[in-house]
Amino acid sequence: MIKVEQLNKKYRNGREALRNVSFEIKQGEFVYCVGPSGSGKSTLFKALSKEIQTTSGLIQLNQYRVDLIPSRHLYLLRRELGIVSQDDFLIPQISVYQNIALALKAVETPDKEIRTKIEGVLALVQMSGFEKSLPSELSIGQRKKIAIARSLVNQPSILLADEPTANLDGNASVDMMKLFLRIHQSGTTILLATHDSTMVNSIRYRVLELKDGQLIRDDANGGYSRYADPKDVYVW
Ligand code: ADP
Repeated sequence: MIKVEQLNKKYRNGREALRNVSFEIKQGEFVYCVGPSGSGKSTLFKALSKEIQTTSGLIQLNQYRVDLIPSRHLYLLRRELGIVSQDDFLIPQISVYQNIALALKAVETPDKEIRTKIEGVLALVQMSGFEKSLPSELSIGQRKKIAIARSLVNQPSILLADEPTANLDGNASVDMMKLFLRIHQSGTTILLATHDSTMVNSIRYRVLELKDGQLIRDDANGGYSRYADPKDVYVW
């Protein structure tokens, strides 16, 4: 569950990146966050994961008040939340297996559970058999899948994904969209920021639209814009 009430973020240079943003996302929902570059999407995601301090307003993730949580308790939040950034942040010198294992060790997972959990999450992202590969041996789409596997291995109830189909070609984008559907079907709440109108228009879910830091649309059945775009080609 994600609850945001009257959220404001003013950067030190005076820029108001979020202005009175309020919404609630129930457990198990799939929600797109759309809006032009500079509209506040990244600021919202950073606020939800407490990468930045907000100026005023309430943020709640499950039982935690993110706006109030002290930094010594941030690890509790990390267990609720999986984060897929635009960059994959995989460590280049170590294998896929070791990269994912780091996320498990960070929350003190017993050694005997590590292999099973990694195998499970690699199967989910359809990357079984790549355990020994180095990130440099994978395509951009495959690296992104490994980053998603790493973000899911601790079974967070909420997944925040920032532009997961950016830089992917058509086939890899479709593959990525299918992966997010599988993750959603497993019960994970998903908030996904995207410019990919084909994705938003062909897999219809709720849409939050930001403009100049304000929430200007909250549509249960979505669509990338209010108006159908005749150029959109639906892939299935
Ligand atoms: P989006 O992700 O939709 O592109 P951002 O959240 O990155 O939007 O940016 C929203 C606004 O806040 C923009 O005007 C941007 O220039 C500004 N902004 C983002 N980060 C900072 C920062 N660290 N300091 C000052 N202004 C920022």
